Amino acid sequence: MILPASAPAQEVPELIPVRMLNEFAYCPRLVYLEWIQGEFADNLDTLEGRFAHRRVDRAATDEVPLPPGAEGGEAPAEVAESEPAPSDVPETIHTRSLMLSAPNEGLIARIDVVDINAGTAIPVDYKRGKVPDVPGNAWEPEQVQLCAQGLVLRENGYQCEGGILYYVESRRRVSVPFTEELIARTRQLAAELRLMGQAQVPPRPLDDSPKCPRCSLVGICLPDETRLLQIEGAEPDELSDGDSLASSTAQEEAATGAATRTPPGTKVRRLFAARDDAQPLYVQEQGAMVGKSGQALTIKKSGKMVAQVRLLDVSQVCLFGNVMISPQALRDLAGAGVPICHFSYGGWFSALTSGLIHKNVELRQAQFAIAADPMRSLEFGRQFVLGKIKNCRTLLRRNLQGDATAVLRDLADLARRAAAARDAGSLLGLEGMAAKAYFAGFARLLKGDQVFEVEGRNRRPPRDPVNALLSFVYALLVKELTIVLHSVGFDPMLGFYHRPRYGRPSLALDLAE
Ligand code: SF4
Repeated sequence: MILPASAPAQEVPELIPVRMLNEFAYCPRLVYLEWIQGEFADNLDTLEGRFAHRRVDRAATDEVPLPPGAEGGEAPAEVAESEPAPSDVPETIHTRSLMLSAPNEGLIARIDVVDINAGTAIPVDYKRGKVPDVPGNAWEPEQVQLCAQGLVLRENGYQCEGGILYYVESRRRVSVPFTEELIARTRQLAAELRLMGQAQVPPRPLDDSPKCPRCSLVGICLPDETRLLQIEGAEPDELSDGDSLASSTAQEEAATGAATRTPPGTKVRRLFAARDDAQPLYVQEQGAMVGKSGQALTIKKSGKMVAQVRLLDVSQVCLFGNVMISPQALRDLAGAGVPICHFSYGGWFSALTSGLIHKNVELRQAQFAIAADPMRSLEFGRQFVLGKIKNCRTLLRRNLQGDATAVLRDLADLARRAAAARDAGSLLGLEGMAAKAYFAGFARLLKGDQVFEVEGRNRRPPRDPVNALLSFVYALLVKELTIVLHSVGFDPMLGFYHRPRYGRPSLALDLAE
């Protein structure tokens, strides 16, 4: 999301983590999303990388031999009075998971292993996978990261002329000399990264790059979709005035805009976002206690185990009525980014406990700026309503029993008018008309032997079983959207189409449309 031009330049932290230089060399947009906007997602590669580092991370060492000449360190080589006897030759010391900063270089590094011998330091960086079959047996981003570690060690007084990449799968070490060329490239990337952070404009996605399908943030970055929207003249997915109700499937899709219009020759690759298998955990047993044992949540009542579920499998915890949760479970869930929703006994959503607020300040700034601008809010509102009408129409077209010609024609007409609505009031009216047309035929969507009497859509309270069920699933949907919006950094209360009203999750209602 790009902020208005008036947004002040952003302060970039003084010290850039050297891992970010690796990612910047891979793709500048990746760093923007991850470091500046605080987005993160795991995929197989990131999990394997973390696994490969587990040994060095576990064995973090605080004691580091000081370089020669440093206060309390060894005597510098040039002032040594005589050559040391063989027994005095210092042994190489392996220091693991060493954190050092270099304010002059503007870098900070956690180095997997540093081999230190008489003031000379060699950083060793663990990499998952095999030695790559490329010149020098190392990719540029990995060389840059290692070189940045070398610069940090140099600024801390060590002599450092090269480093080692250790490839876990090949079990091989690859030496990387810190040439003038590599050092210049590393410093150039650090300067560019700093400028990018200050500019507050996310770099464009890579163009049809083979890097994207393997990138863990592909589901957040959406490279092809973002590029398509940035291509001048690319049309959004909407109805044009000339569309008419067509009978064939292809014509239907064209009429409703279901087929995405792309400039000729432009294709959207099928990219797979990381799949989240976690599920909500609902605890409705009155008097139950949610606790934690190892990496699992336990649910006990009167001291007896009722259920146990792995933390890994839980996307949110919903507690109804008189259900308690232990501080340990609370802390671990908050740390893992799993929200805890509190409901009354009857299911009234009353509170949400979560970890620290999402780091993406830019997202909230952009949300507030759009919500304060009636015309931009209207643009979003049109898209929400248009999407809703098109979805309703598709459902009816596919499932309505009997003749659907009239209602499909009416909905196509309302969709066209919604896409061109001039103000929020007329958009509301069009949405209401579309809902009425949709629910008028709703009973004919229901299949099976049971006959349901449905008097259109009615609520507060619903007057028939179908409407009661609809109200229930809408409530679940709005609850889900409220939690999702909150966890990705939006304010769920500030909508664009649904205007703010006390206690109403307006943005969640927008998305529910
Ligand atoms: S998906 Fe592609 S463009 Fe987007 S951050 Fe990842 S590598 Fe960069």
